[in-house]
Amino acid sequence: MTCDDASMMRWSRQILFGDVDAMFASAAVLADPSLAGKPVAVGGSSPRGIIAAASYAARAFGVHSAMPTGEATRLCPQLILIPPDRPLYRRLHEQMQAVTDQLFPLTEWSSIDEFYADTTQLQTRYPDPRSLGQLAKDALYDATGLRCTIAVATGKTVAKIAADSHKPDGLVVVPPGTEEAFLAQRPLRALPGIGPKTAARLEPLGLKTIGELLDQRWDQPLRHIFGARLHWVRELARGIDHEPVVADRESKSLSHETTFEQDRHDRPFLEQTLRGFLRDLARDLRQEGLAAGSCTVKLKNARFAITTKQHRFSHPLNYDPDMWPTVQQALRELIRPSTEYRLAGLALSSLTPAPPGLFDQKRTKAIQAMDALITKHGSSVIGLGGVSQDDE
Ligand SMILES: [Mg+2]
Repeated sequence: MTCDDASMMRWSRQILFGDVDAMFASAAVLADPSLAGKPVAVGGSSPRGIIAAASYAARAFGVHSAMPTGEATRLCPQLILIPPDRPLYRRLHEQMQAVTDQLFPLTEWSSIDEFYADTTQLQTRYPDPRSLGQLAKDALYDATGLRCTIAVATGKTVAKIAADSHKPDGLVVVPPGTEEAFLAQRPLRALPGIGPKTAARLEPLGLKTIGELLDQRWDQPLRHIFGARLHWVRELARGIDHEPVVADRESKSLSHETTFEQDRHDRPFLEQTLRGFLRDLARDLRQEGLAAGSCTVKLKNARFAITTKQHRFSHPLNYDPDMWPTVQQALRELIRPSTEYRLAGLALSSLTPAPPGLFDQKRTKAIQAMDALITKHGSSVIGLGGVSQDDE
C-alpha cells in the first residue's frame, strides 16, 4: 500500500493540529508591512527585557524566545525590537477562533496560537486529510494574514511533533500505522515528558532518538530513569496516544495554562503558578474593561487525566488579590495527595463589562499605574500567555 492510499482510507481517529508561525513577530509585520523579511523580535527593551518571539530572519542570527534582549541585540545588532501588542494578538486569536469554529466540529485552542481539532467526523466530506489541512491553512491566512503550520495524525502528540518539524508554513500528514516510523528518527526531546533534565540523563547513555526508547537493550537504565512511567513513555514513542480534544472554552473566557518541564506534586509550586496566571489574566480583564464571574482551575496528571474545578466569585471581579482566595480554594479541592501533575491552567469566565465603581477611584488609579508600569518595563512579556511556546 502506498502512502497516499493509506492517507486516503478512513481513519478511526483523526486529529488536526495548527500552530501559527512566530505569531507575535508575524503580527508585528501585519501591523507594519515594511518589517517583512527583516530581523524582528517582540519583547521588552534592555537591560532587563526578555525576547517573547523572533521572526525567522532574526532566528538566523541565533535570536530566540526567552533570551535576554541584551544578548539578542549583541547577536544581531540590526535587530528591530517591537513591544508586545496584546490587543492585536487577542484580535487575531479571535479571528482565528471564528475560522476554526466554522471549519471544525470540535476545537481546543491550547494556547493563543495553537489548536487541536478532532476531524474524525469530517472524513466523509474531506476524504483527503491533506486537502483539509490546506483548506484550514488558507482560511486562517485569508482571515488574518498569518501563516501557520498544520499537521494531521491519529493523535495529538504525533500531530504536534510533526508540525514542529515542518515549520514554517508546513503541511504534513502522518497516516495511520506510520506513527512509530515517523517518530523513530525524531530527537528525544520532541516527546512530551522528556524535558531538558530527563534528556540530560538519557544522552550520556547514547540515546538520541525517540525510536531508541523502544530498544530492549536499554530496558534497565530506562526503567531506572522513568520507573512506572516507562510503559506510558513507550506507548507515546509508538505514537499511541488517546488524549481527547477537549473543547474547554466557554463562549467568553480568558485562560492560560502551562506544561511543566518535570511533573510536580508540591502545592506551593502549583499555587505560585496559578497566582502568576491570575495576575496576568486579571490585568487583561482590567485593560479590556471586563470582570469575571467565575474561575476554573485545570490540572492534568502525569497520566494525562484532566480534572477541573469551577467556582463562582461572590460578584464579578477583576482585581487579582480579591480573586485569589477563590482560585486557591478551587486548587486545594482539586489536588489529590501523592499525585504528580504535568500541567496547570486557569480560566476566568462569565465575563461581563466591569461595573462602574468596582473599585474606589484611588485604588483604580493605583492599579492603572501598576498596569502601565508592568507594560512599560516589559515584565508582562514573561507572563504573557503562551509566550514560551510561541517561538516555533
Ligand atoms: Mg506558534
